[in-house]
Amino acid sequence: MQWRLRLIFLVMLLIPQGILFGLARGTVLETVKWFTQIQAVTMVSALLLALIMPGLILAWLIGRPLAKIRDFCLLVKQGDYQTRLYLPNEARDSNDEDDITLLMRDMNWMARRIALRDQELKQAVDNLAQSRKQIEEQNQSLAETNEELLVAQKRLQERTTELEEAFTKMQVMALTDPLTTIANRRCFFDTMEKQFASLVCVCRPISLVMIDIDRFKDINDTFGHEAGDKVLMEIAGIIKRYSRENDLAARIGGEEFTVLLPGTCSQEATMIARRIQTAIACRNFDLGGKQPVAVTLSIGLCTLSQTPCLDREKLYNYADQALYYSKKNGRNSISIFDPAIQTIEKVS
Ligand code: GH3
Ligand code: MG
Ligand code: MG
Repeated sequence: MQWRLRLIFLVMLLIPQGILFGLARGTVLETVKWFTQIQAVTMVSALLLALIMPGLILAWLIGRPLAKIRDFCLLVKQGDYQTRLYLPNEARDSNDEDDITLLMRDMNWMARRIALRDQELKQAVDNLAQSRKQIEEQNQSLAETNEELLVAQKRLQERTTELEEAFTKMQVMALTDPLTTIANRRCFFDTMEKQFASLVCVCRPISLVMIDIDRFKDINDTFGHEAGDKVLMEIAGIIKRYSRENDLAARIGGEEFTVLLPGTCSQEATMIARRIQTAIACRNFDLGGKQPVAVTLSIGLCTLSQTPCLDREKLYNYADQALYYSKKNGRNSISIFDPAIQTIEKVS
């Protein structure tokens, strides 16, 4: 029991005694010696108690609940939001309650609200942490995907480069004769088409030299097909070497070659044809026999210079006719087709 309660009990005991002794004044009891002494002490005590009584009652009614509220606030301050001030009837209608009880009820309500907000806050923090974890996982997965994409992109780039190289190789192969590595028949006709298209505009001449190896079949029959190949390769090399940078040397058939000379007049073309013929004539081919073998060429040549005459089929036909003329007239020679007078002349 608290000291305040004890005091109140004492007061309750002493006040009736004081009243009792007051009433006993003037009676026979006053003649008793100890009664007078007890009466005096009791009266003084009752008086003192009457003086401190209001303070005690105030302490009981206000100080006690305030102390409880202070303890409560301390607990709330320390983070204990579940603590509550004791109220005899928590669910009671508060209209007829005193201010302190109302204050305590409000404080309980505040604690409940704080607890609720605290819980909501904790939940929000949890949710935030979970979202953050999910974002981190997604980031990780995105980084992995990105890495895979980079690898795939690199592979794609490599593959594209390979394909581009293969395509360029194929383009070159499509226009190159595999045996002699000079231009093939397709390249020759494509180039001739392009050259004619551009030369028509500028009215420049174009010459075509057609070359056929004489009696090449005999080389094959005598020294074998491989020896024949070797001759083809060497002759192709010589034709290429004696052609100029803008000329196109091509192998258009078995042992048939052409040199297309854009912007070249007949004299110049004849000079180049002669150089080729001489170079081959001076060359002795070692084909594994006892003696080196001499090879000769039959050459046909034609030049078209006037715009109305610039027809690639005509040029090809005229040069072919000139070549045929060389063949028919003893081989190892150069013949020129003159488109102006439609005649062929053997020049060497
Ligand atoms: P001509 O003087 O009349 O031109 O006689 P030729 O023997 O040169 O001509 P012909 O048309 O009778 O023979 C051409 C030969 O060329 C026949 C063929 O076996 C040979 N030939 C064609 N292509 C190749 C090839 O790629 N390699 C080899 N080694 N021989 C080939
Ligand atoms: Mg031939
Ligand atoms: Mg031949």
